[in-house]
Formats: sequence, structure tokens, C-alpha cells
Amino acid sequence: MLELKKISKTYKSKKGSSCNALKNINIKFPDKGLVFILGKSGSGKSTLLNIIGGLDAPDNGEIIIRGKSSKDFSQKDYDAYRNTFLGFIFQEYNVMDDFSVYDNVALSLKLQNQKVDKEVVEDILDKVGLKGFEKRKPNELSGGQKQRVAIARALVKQTEIILGDEPTGNLDSNTSKQIFKILGKLAQNKLVIIVSHDRDSAEKYADRIIELADGEVIADVSKRSEDIEDFAITNKTITIPSDRPLTPKELRQVNKAMSEKPLKIRQRSDSKFEKTGNIVSQKTDGCKLIRSKFPNKYATQLGVSNFKTKKFRLVVTIFLTVVSLALFGLSQIFAGYDIAVASSKSFEANNITDIVLKQGTYIEEFDSFNMSSMETINKQAYDKLTKDYVTNHLDFYALEMTYKSSEFDIMSMIMSMVGRNLSTPYATSSQGVLVAELNDIKKYFGGESCEIIKGVYPQDTDTKVVITDYLADSLINLNKDKYIREITAMGDEYAHLKDNLYEYILMVGISDIMGLKVDVCGIISTDYKTKYKNLLDTYVASSDQFTSHEDYDKFCLEVKNYYSVLFAKSTAFINSVNTSVGYAKVSSIKFRPTFGEYKKGLPSTKYVYKLDELVAQLESNGHDLQYLYDENILSPDADIYVNDSRIKNAVIIPLATYKEMLEQYLLKIEEELSEKEDPVKRQSFNEATALLSNLSAGDYSFDPDAIKDYQKINMGTFNLLDIANGPAYEEYLNVVGIIDFNSLAKHIPATASYGSVVCAIFSDVNVIKNATANNSLRALYVTLPDSERLVREYLTIANDNFVYHESEISATLYLVSNIFKIFSIVFQWVALIMGIFSTILLFNFVTISVVNKQKEIGILRAIGAKGSDVGKIFLIESAIMGAITVVCSWGLIFLGTHLINSLLVGSFKSYLQSTIINRITLLTVGVTPIFAVLVACAIVVFLATVIPVVKISRMKPVDAIKKL
Ligand code: ADP
Ligand code: MG
Repeated sequence: MLELKKISKTYKSKKGSSCNALKNINIKFPDKGLVFILGKSGSGKSTLLNIIGGLDAPDNGEIIIRGKSSKDFSQKDYDAYRNTFLGFIFQEYNVMDDFSVYDNVALSLKLQNQKVDKEVVEDILDKVGLKGFEKRKPNELSGGQKQRVAIARALVKQTEIILGDEPTGNLDSNTSKQIFKILGKLAQNKLVIIVSHDRDSAEKYADRIIELADGEVIADVSKRSEDIEDFAITNKTITIPSDRPLTPKELRQVNKAMSEKPLKIRQRSDSKFEKTGNIVSQKTDGCKLIRSKFPNKYATQLGVSNFKTKKFRLVVTIFLTVVSLALFGLSQIFAGYDIAVASSKSFEANNITDIVLKQGTYIEEFDSFNMSSMETINKQAYDKLTKDYVTNHLDFYALEMTYKSSEFDIMSMIMSMVGRNLSTPYATSSQGVLVAELNDIKKYFGGESCEIIKGVYPQDTDTKVVITDYLADSLINLNKDKYIREITAMGDEYAHLKDNLYEYILMVGISDIMGLKVDVCGIISTDYKTKYKNLLDTYVASSDQFTSHEDYDKFCLEVKNYYSVLFAKSTAFINSVNTSVGYAKVSSIKFRPTFGEYKKGLPSTKYVYKLDELVAQLESNGHDLQYLYDENILSPDADIYVNDSRIKNAVIIPLATYKEMLEQYLLKIEEELSEKEDPVKRQSFNEATALLSNLSAGDYSFDPDAIKDYQKINMGTFNLLDIANGPAYEEYLNVVGIIDFNSLAKHIPATASYGSVVCAIFSDVNVIKNATANNSLRALYVTLPDSERLVREYLTIANDNFVYHESEISATLYLVSNIFKIFSIVFQWVALIMGIFSTILLFNFVTISVVNKQKEIGILRAIGAKGSDVGKIFLIESAIMGAITVVCSWGLIFLGTHLINSLLVGSFKSYLQSTIINRITLLTVGVTPIFAVLVACAIVVFLATVIPVVKISRMKPVDAIKKL
């Protein structure tokens, strides 16, 4: 059943010399019997046996096993071939030190996918004389006993062939004898091939001896079959023994045979062997291969045994991997810090039920009441945020009013620009109007303290507002002297108003520095005096001490969103302001010629005016429109052109601005013309040059019928945080005239500031449009839903629509969120670098494991394990390490989160000088980072393991064994 055909094998050394280890070997093996392969060291015995055993592949020739040629074998087939047909016995025993005697034997069976019958194993151990040694580990056995284990291991599989490479090479002669006896017994019903250089034993035990020299078969002899009977009579010959006389009975038989017919007498020679004839293999019952199966239990046992030998390396590897995974996990936690979740939880913890929502990104503002950084709430966000989740919302419209003090001067104007006069706790400006029913206001701002204490709440379409007692007090603080003066001037019958200035405010209303007048019909009470008693009592003019008060931030927020707000019944008020007001604020704007670029530099915030409004202000100085024409301050007929509906976006701009535009335009066109001549451009260029010189010469006349390129300008509105990216949007304007503010200021000194405040004169329609855009919906006051979950969902919607919230804890929440974003990025990078490092370490660890386990790998392969079976050992090893790592990382993540939280609380406390941080939700360990760490670990383990494992499973078994 086993035949070698033309097998040859050449080893090539790295230096280039080659060694013909086997040359054209042809051997047919019998189905049973003990075959010895004899030869001197280096004659090719082991090479031959390895090839027979499928541990190595021949260069040429084939092995025929049960009629199937090895040429058709893949590496897997070889593994299965060994597993199915072969039992191996090595000179070095090669039992697995990690397993007990019993397990060594049982594993061999398991690899064959057979059920392990305890009795069978014990029976075989008994056969080889190892009864009672089942539980011993190989290091508790003698050499002979180990070899018996190896034999038992080979035996238990009940394979048809057993191969032994110098199985007694390391044993004393007595033990050798016993081993050969066992092998001899086995050979009675299977093929046993033994490589040896021990000729004496060969002659004693062998049924056949094949002798090798220099890779060639030089002798092949079989024990004479007659050897069993040294006396025999056939019909041709009579064989008589050479070493004893014949018995009388034998003599009689000889005589009788001789008398019948003449027979040759042959004396048996000394040799017990004769040349081996062709042995025809008899049965070919097919070649069914059994694929090995390596039980996890054994793989685990081997994998774990690696840990014992390299404890330090193991600890370091796991430690570093744990740290990098934990950092990665923490970075995920930071990244996953959800402001909506943190906010909802913190709102719940702090009993905050009412918040203000604004469009845009939260920016940490210093004591800022600056409306210009606020954006209009877009319709989509508004719809989503007022539906479903909230039952109660108030709309807040921007309307900036900066109040004049009686001692109005530039300084106090600058101070009021920052929103509050720092020398008092009172407001000098207000930011907008809440449009709401009185009841809603009461509901929102808290019940009892919120009452109309003077006047009434406006009627449905009243264009009047109600102000808070705080704002009234602020106005009184600014204007007390003026009010008293005015009341005195009104005569004695109004004297009582001196003690009742609220009443007086209701009479005169409020007006801002730009001249906007608003009627006030009522004053509403707030709790500001009681709520901020501490702050107000300890107030000192030094802003430092004021701002460091723990209630300061809260107070500012409340001033901004409540105390200094105007209350209107309906949007009718806003509409009336927008249509009646003569100007509109334009924030963060720059001009450019339509055919030209914006100049570098910061945009500015100015006002666009209706011409009527400007004229009205002149009239208070005793001048009129005609005066502007007479003194050549305004382009001829500009008042007609600017409101001419046929001219789109007509504008009168200051002379200085327009000159700049023209110069810019000319430069640009000149450049273009120098590149390529163009008659149309050339004409424009000439006209613009003429216009510029006309303007310089004092001729301000414009031709409005044909708006030329050089009359077209753009007004760009910039986002202050993103100026470099150009304007957020642009308005296209057509210049129909100029106004010379310098000349105006010379004629009427009171108008000196016009030039710096007014950037353009727009048509009435355009001013209303700008005013409406400016005084748009800027905030939503909402009462949050009851449950934390709903709040979270609601805030998520807000977040998704770029809407942020304001509350006493919002600033801290956003600050923390921004810090975490940075942490997240830093941690992610550190984790990545450490991850690479720990992958390398783990890779190194597995590689060393593989090297350390090479012996076991070789043995396993030799006894039939597949390449992937041995790979499994290291996969399990890595998986165990991975599991330990993941669990430790999780632990570290929880610990780290806790530590970071308490660290943050500690440092924020001193930074914010408030106790807010105690009450906001910081990091929480969610499912995602936990899962992410698991995945990351799996990736690291996979990367580190896959290369060594693939390498080992592809390794030829003989190479693994060589290193034994
Ligand atoms: P034996 O087992 O009879 O002592 P081997 O089969 O081990 O002999 O070796 C036969 C010949 O092949 C020897 O000359 C040996 O040096 C050479 N040889 C064996 N293995 C290798 C190898 N891996 N690389 C190169 N030469 C080898
Ligand atoms: Mg050898």
C-alpha cells in the first residue's frame, strides 16, 4: 500500500553548494512487517523517512499510498495523510511536555476526530508498560518511558504505518530491546519502518533491511521466509539446517522424499536474509484521508503555557496595550461628550426648566450683551423647536436700544456700547423685545413677583411696550437729573411726578441715542432686588470686585435675557418700529465695487438712513433738503433717484467711500486693459476717470438713467468669526448720488459724527428691509419638557439646527464641551501612537511564543495536526491576552473617567469661582466607547497575531521539527 517511486531530494545550502540527499529511490513497502532503514550518518535515512512521513516534500518522484499519488497532495492533504495513516516515533521522543501521559495519547486520537475512549487509551498504555503513569507529566518520566508514550501515541491511532527515526537512539541497550520487542509485535499486523544505524538490532528484529549510502539504496534484503522453519521439503528441494544434526523423524522424511523422486539438497546459508523481490501491493481499498481536528482544550492549554514562561513580557505588553486602549476609549468618551445629554442631565439636576435658545454657535462672551453676534433663528429651526416638545415658548425679537444719559458724552456712549455702565449695576442698553401675553411672561419668569406695578399691559395691537422695574431703575439712574429738570419745567401740577419717576417714564416713554422713541404703557416687577441683594449690596464701583462676585455671571445673564428686555403684546410693535424708524443698523459690513475685491481689514458696524430721517435731523438744526443741494453737499436730484422704484437698490453713499470704490474700480480695469484691450471696458474706464475727477472738482452730478459698472457696489455682511472666508451674504447696490459728510460737518458742526455713523442713504423700502432683518427673531424662550429624555431629544434637535442654549449653567456646559473636544483630539493621537506601539509589542510577543513553541508545533504537525490547528494555539493565546486587555482597559476607562471628572471639578471650581461645576454632568461612560475599545482591541490582536500565525501554519513540518 506504500510505494516510493523515483524519489530524489537535493538540499541547496545558502552558499550555493548542493547535496543530493536522496537519489532516485524506488521502494515498495509490504503491508506489514518491520522494515529497517540502515545507513551511516548522513546517508539520507532521515530525509527518506521525512518524505515517507509527509513532513517534507521530495523534489522529484512520488509516494503512492493506496493507489493515490502524492503528486495530487496539497499541504493539507499531507497533514491529513499523516493524520490518517501514520504514527511517528522520534529519537527525541517528542512528547508534549505540557500534557500528561494520558493527554499525549488522547490528543493523538482527538486529532483524528475520534472519540477518546478512556479504556482504549489505558489499554494501550498498559501494552507499552505504562500502566499507572497516566497522570504523570513527561518531565517525571525516564527516557524509555517517554519513548513508550511516543509509541503509545503512535499506536492508539491504529494507523497502518508506524515510522520511527532512531527511536532507541537515546536509550540504553536493555530499554532498546524492550522497545524493539514492542515494535516487532506491532509489525505483525502493520508496517513499521525504523531508521537506525544499529545493524545488530536490525538483523535481530527486522523483516526487511534497506541499506542506504549517499542517498542511494545499496542493499535491500528480506528475512528468508524459510527462516521460520529451518527444515523443509518441497517438491524440488530439501532444506536442512546448517547448525544442527537432523532428528530421526526428519531423516525418515528425507529418505522417503528422496525415494519418490530425486531432489536437490540445499544447506541453509548463514544469512537469514535474501534479496527482496517485487512485493506486489495486494489490496487497494482507496485512500480516504481524515482531516485533523485540534480540540480547543488542548490549544488553550498550549496557548496558556506560553504565559508562564514570559511573565514580565506578558505584563508589559498587556499594560501598554491596556493604557493605549484606555486612552483610545477615553478619547471616544470625550468625542462622544454630547452637549445635549450633558445639558439635559444637568438641567434636571439643577431644576432648570426655562432656557433661552439662540441660533449660532455658542461663543464665550465676556460680559457681552452684544447682539450683533446673534443670528436670526431660521424658520426650519423655529418650526422644529416650537412643535411637539414645548408647550410654552416666547419669541424674542432683536431691538437694540442704547439709552442716552443726561450727561451724554462720548465716554458714556462707549460704555453703553458694552451694554452696561460699569460704574453702576444698571443697564445702559436693552437688546430686544419679548412678544408675549402677560400670563405667559408670569408663567415663564416665575409667578408672584412678576406683576404689573404701574400702568397696564398693552392691548392687542398696541405699539407700546412694558419694561421691567430694573430697566426703569436703570433709566432713572441714567437720567434722574434730566427727568427732574423736565418735571420742574412742566410746572407745579406735575411736581408729584418727582417722587414717582415710574409714572413719568410712562408719560415720556424711552428713547435711545439714535433717536428711536418707544412708548411705555406699563412697568412690571421683577425679583432682582431680592434675588441679587448680596451682589447689589456689596457692589463697588471697581469692576474687578463686582465681576468676581459669585452671582455676577448669573446676574448678567438675567439682565440680558429678562431684566433689560422690553415686553410687547404682539409683533405689531416690532413692525411699527421697523416701518417708522428712519435708519437700520448694518453689522459687520464692508463695501467693494461690484467689479473689484473687498479690501483687507475688519468690517464695521454702521447705520443706513432714509434720506427723510437725515433731513429731519437737519431740520432740528434749522436746515432742510434744499440746503444740501444749495451747498453742493448732495448730488443733484438724489432725493428723487434714491426712491425711484425703477432703480433697483438705489443708494447715496458718502463721497469718501465712493471715491475709494472708483479708485479701486479703475485700478482693476486698468489691470485688465493692460492684459487685453477691450473698447467697452476702455470706455467705462474713461468715464469713471472723468467721474472721479468731476467728484474731486466738486461736480457731484450723476446720470441715473444708465447705471454703469462703476456705479455698482456690493455691501457684504461678514461673520466676525470667519472674515477670511468672505461675506456671509452680499447686497447689490446702485450708486445714484453721493453725500459729502465732510462738507456737511463744516457747514453744520453738530453733524460731525454723521460720517462715522452713517454708511449709506438707502431708499425707504430698503431701510425697512434692513431694519426688519436686523430686528428679527433672535431667541426662543422655552419651558423645557418634563422628562429628562424629552429634554435630551429636544436639545439634540436644537444642536442639529445650530441652536445653542443660555441658562445659568450653559456657559460652563459649553466650556466643558469645548475642552473635551480638544482632549478628544489629543487623546486620539496619543492612543493611535501607543496603539501602534502596543501592536508591535503584541506582535513580538506572539512571534516569540511561536518560536518557543516550535517544538510542539513540529510534534503536532508530525502526528497529524493541520497548519491551522497550530495557528489556533496562538490565536487562543492572543485572544486570552486580548480579553484580559479589554477587561483591564474597561476598568481603566471607568477609573479614568472618574478621575478626570473629579480633576475637572477641582480645577473649574477655582477657575469659575462658582459651584456650577458641581452640578453639571461631565463624562459618562457610554456603550459606544466600551464597544469601540473592544473593536480596537480585536483589530490590534488580529494585526499582531495574523502574520506569525500565518507564517507558522505555512511552515513545512520538517522545518519546525529540524529546530527541535
Ligand atoms: P541521516 O539521517 O542518514 O543521518 P539525513 O537524511 O539527515 O541523513 O541527511 C542526508 C544528507 O542531507 C546529509 O548529507 C545532510 O548533511 C544533508 N541534509 C539533511 N538535511 C539538510 C538540510 N536541511 N539542508 C541541507 N542539507 C541537509
Ligand atoms: Mg538522521
